[in-house]
Amino acid sequence: MPSEFELIRHFFERPARSARLGVGDDCALIAPSPGMDLAVSTDMLAEGIHFLTGTDARRLGHKSLAVNISDLAAMGASPRWATLALAMPTADEAWLSEFSAGFFALADRSGVELIGGDTTRSSTSASIMICITIFGEVPPGDALLRSGAHPGDDIWVSGELGGAALGLAQRLGRVTLSNQDADYVTRRLELPDPRVELGLRLRGLATGAIDVSDGFAGDLMHILERSGAGAQVHYESLPRCAAFANLGDPELEQRCVLSGGDDYELIFTASATRRDDVERLARELKLPLACVGTMLEGERKLEFCDAAGRALPAAGGFDHFK
Ligand SMILES: [Mg+2]
Repeated sequence: MPSEFELIRHFFERPARSARLGVGDDCALIAPSPGMDLAVSTDMLAEGIHFLTGTDARRLGHKSLAVNISDLAAMGASPRWATLALAMPTADEAWLSEFSAGFFALADRSGVELIGGDTTRSSTSASIMICITIFGEVPPGDALLRSGAHPGDDIWVSGELGGAALGLAQRLGRVTLSNQDADYVTRRLELPDPRVELGLRLRGLATGAIDVSDGFAGDLMHILERSGAGAQVHYESLPRCAAFANLGDPELEQRCVLSGGDDYELIFTASATRRDDVERLARELKLPLACVGTMLEGERKLEFCDAAGRALPAAGGFDHFK
């Protein structure tokens, strides 16, 4: 049986590429490209809270890194390096093999180099914990901030909302979907695709941005709070997962679309004068970008309205965000 250290080395140690010194010493050594700011973020995933027990290890390796890369995307930063800390009850070789395969497949595709980390045994009752710190680069002054939105700006959202939350509801046995829909929403939940290219292209175009990790309404509220403005959003124009059309449960749909987490799309704001530029970008990236509302002068209040402009009656999904 290989020792814990041998296992880590086997699955996670790779020769340094862009890092001056990678895994294997007390510290890694990295140098950002000349003139660039470092963008740094940490995300922790705990079994039973952020992922279900029994989640496929390869998909979990992908998702652990994807949620971190998504934070860089939301800043308009390009991914460079990551560290990984793992706590697990036993050093399970098959699990580590699958987890590292999922992690490195996305890392290689995204230009991320693993430069260090740690593993530890959790007590037998404890579960798996995964903590990743990600490092990216962005030119000074170009980062997309939550605080940059202005009254009158358009509010945009990429891709579609609610699919990951529907995937979780399906995994918990709360809804029954066709095999095809079930497979699709499970992928939305377990294999999110961070919008890095979009984030990079929004530099100089978006005024503010955030990624959708906790749900559209809550995450947009962070932009409102940091920018000191309100917003009106047209509920019907929010892009949503096609599986909802087959489900016929408008209440669940609203809850998933407004408050479902884990979609890892980007919400961003841009001047209404830049609408053509955003639409051109959507065509170039072959990624739907939907204009869903407007930033408003005044108090930090988020209103949803229907197609006729009437205020949407508060439903369980978002009223606690008011
Ligand atoms: Mg985020």
